[in-house]
Amino acid sequence: MKAAVFHKPGDISYDTVPDPRIELATDVILRVTSTAICGSDLHILSGAVPQKEPMIMGHEFMGIVEEVGAEVKNLKRGDRVVVPFPIACGHCFFCQHGASPACEHSNYKHYGPDGDLMDSKGAALFGYTDLYGGYSGGQAEYVRVPYADISPRIIPDNLSDEQVLFLTDIFPTGWSAIDWAQLKGGEVVAIFGSGPVGLMAQKAAWINGASRVIAIDPLNYRLEKARAVNRVDTLNPHEVDVVEAIREMTGGRGADVCVDAVGFEPERSFVDKVKATINFEKGSIKVLEMAFKAVRRMGTVSIMGVYGSPYDNFPLHRIFDKGITLKMGQAPVLNYIDHLIKLVQEEKVVLDDIITHTLPLSDVSHAYKIFDEKEDDCVKVVLRP
Ligand code: NAD
Ligand code: ZN
Ligand code: ZN
Repeated sequence: MKAAVFHKPGDISYDTVPDPRIELATDVILRVTSTAICGSDLHILSGAVPQKEPMIMGHEFMGIVEEVGAEVKNLKRGDRVVVPFPIACGHCFFCQHGASPACEHSNYKHYGPDGDLMDSKGAALFGYTDLYGGYSGGQAEYVRVPYADISPRIIPDNLSDEQVLFLTDIFPTGWSAIDWAQLKGGEVVAIFGSGPVGLMAQKAAWINGASRVIAIDPLNYRLEKARAVNRVDTLNPHEVDVVEAIREMTGGRGADVCVDAVGFEPERSFVDKVKATINFEKGSIKVLEMAFKAVRRMGTVSIMGVYGSPYDNFPLHRIFDKGITLKMGQAPVLNYIDHLIKLVQEEKVVLDDIITHTLPLSDVSHAYKIFDEKEDDCVKVVLRP
């Protein structure tokens, strides 16, 4: 079959690889109909999340069940499903406690309670390096889905691939950021990063009762997208002092909730990069630092952007002094997906309005380039195998 294969940083190509096959009786093989590139994939492309061996990329995918393992009960050949990105066994302590991104079984080689840099991780993720289980991803014609009775969700035929594809990751991820802040209604929510995850958090903020949603991004075309699809206020850190602007909008207090939808690889100056190298830090926490200033006292900061190392001068003093609630981590997609499918079905949310490019999977190298380098006003790419 054909698939998007990571070889080394900067090198993802469209290759011929062996077809996946049923390895355990609880697997299915999916024929992928649509798949997307995620900001998380860019951390692999850059080399910040390391991978030595060639690997099939992709954790946002959907398709049609082609082959079914002998013990699978909930799926049959021909079912059309979306597949959440964390791989969960469904039976361990964490899966039983609504914490599927901490599944104890799916990533048995590198699983552990410590959360170290290069070991002792949580659940496996599709197409997300050996450290996260070494499973092949879904930017491919076919993909093996383990524990097939647990995570995949059957999608009614009247919904298009585009309408539901983002239920695999970015909508539940944006939703988690807002759910973790437990809005009561009327909150001001400031969302740093207006890429796919930020745009989805904006949608979730409105649905959960925010009175004002503010998007922050240095790229004007992404802010334009945010205004067009989500009717939010926007701030460009190149043009205004974002923290001052947010305080002005909130009687001097700051936003009730701040969301980091950027992570450890924000836009950075040469000085930022040198500082990180000297401190042995991966990337930068500059967005988080801004979020801790911009949030009001006793407010909540949800961190959906990925962070991959310890950081010097982490502003714990400010977090304590302001009494900030912090919540972060991989999104527990399984906790939300059934509710979110219903929202799509009932037309309470539109997800496909963020797609800017639909390309054949054979164009995958180009697709990564425009998404990574923010060319051609790229916001979200959908690939068709
Ligand atoms: P993306 O790279 O398309 O979006 C990031 C956005 O941040 C870009 O629009 C960029 O211009 C903006 N940005 C850069 N510097 C900034 C700054 N200083 N201030 C404000 N904005 C800035 O990626 P994405 O797909 O939206 O993903 C965002 C992050 O979320 C990534 O780190 C990704 O790994 C992570 N993620 C986490 C989960 C999870 O479960 N926690 C799931 C999916 C993605
Ligand atoms: Zn993702
Ligand atoms: Zn489990």
